[in-house]
Amino acid sequence: MSISDSGSEHPIVIEDPVTSRDNEVRPFRIEGMDVRGRAVRLGTVAQQIIAAHDYPDPVARILGEFLALAALLGSIIKYDGIVTLQAKSAGPLPMIVTDFTRVQEGIGHLRGYMSVDETKLAHYGKDPSFHGLIGSKEGGYLAMTIDQGSDMERYQGIVDLKGETLSDIARTYFKSSEQTPTEIRLTSDRDPVTGHWRAGGIMVQYLAHGEEGRERTFVRETDDEWGRASILMHSVTKEELLDPALDLDRLLYRLFNEDGVRVFDPWRLIAQCRCDRGRLLGVLRQFSADDIDHMTENGKISVNCQFCNKTYEFDPDDLSGDADTGPGPSAGAVH
Ligand SMILES: [Zn+2]
Repeated sequence: MSISDSGSEHPIVIEDPVTSRDNEVRPFRIEGMDVRGRAVRLGTVAQQIIAAHDYPDPVARILGEFLALAALLGSIIKYDGIVTLQAKSAGPLPMIVTDFTRVQEGIGHLRGYMSVDETKLAHYGKDPSFHGLIGSKEGGYLAMTIDQGSDMERYQGIVDLKGETLSDIARTYFKSSEQTPTEIRLTSDRDPVTGHWRAGGIMVQYLAHGEEGRERTFVRETDDEWGRASILMHSVTKEELLDPALDLDRLLYRLFNEDGVRVFDPWRLIAQCRCDRGRLLGVLRQFSADDIDHMTENGKISVNCQFCNKTYEFDPDDLSGDADTGPGPSAGAVH
């Protein structure tokens, strides 16, 4: 047992050393209950991903929540791979994409972007609701894809974008796709002091018949145990989920200390895009000379990565078949 903060007045059961307070997912279990959960806190990772774009605040907030959800879901998969969340709707935010790459046990890379229809967005006023932007008003769906490489099966689950919040939609997803009673809270906002983006979230899941290997049903969903765990989880405030001075362990202790909470190895989250100069060059080389001509401006071809907003420039002469792949690493490109 080790405690990272010697100033803590209420030590909690910790199985592994705490190394970081931001940018992590912390799995946990409530003692004596068939309830497991995860909490996530994004600091610089949220800031880095969101600030690469020029989104209006109410819209950026939604991307922050998607990032928190991607981290919670991505850290559940058992093998290296990519978990992608993609929301499509006819509203002012036609597309929101976030993904989590499980690089290895305990480390995940996050990235994300959204497309914004400024004309439609203008109709929603200064403080549009989630419901108005991508909720049921405009229809649409959220797809969750797990891709664990060519030798593993690709999995996709889909849920309608119906709900007042992204948390509502995620809850529906778990209920319909995973048949696991789940309660979840997600939030994102600027830090009131620094103005930097932060995001946070927490989820609890009820293993209605205990651990794996036994049939899970909703029979006991109304059980006191699950009801109590849900109520405790929902007592968390937005401020607590985002507060840089309140690390996840202390937050979990605050919420569940009456029953006891056990935390497990954290996942470290890193803002890291998968775009790659060598791979882009490979794609460009498949275009015809005519197409290349059309794409060339002032003697250069510019390609912008939607995720991280980085611009790559290519010399059209490099695109003819056997040219060198140009500067920058081309190895390690991930699909
Ligand atoms: Zn990129």
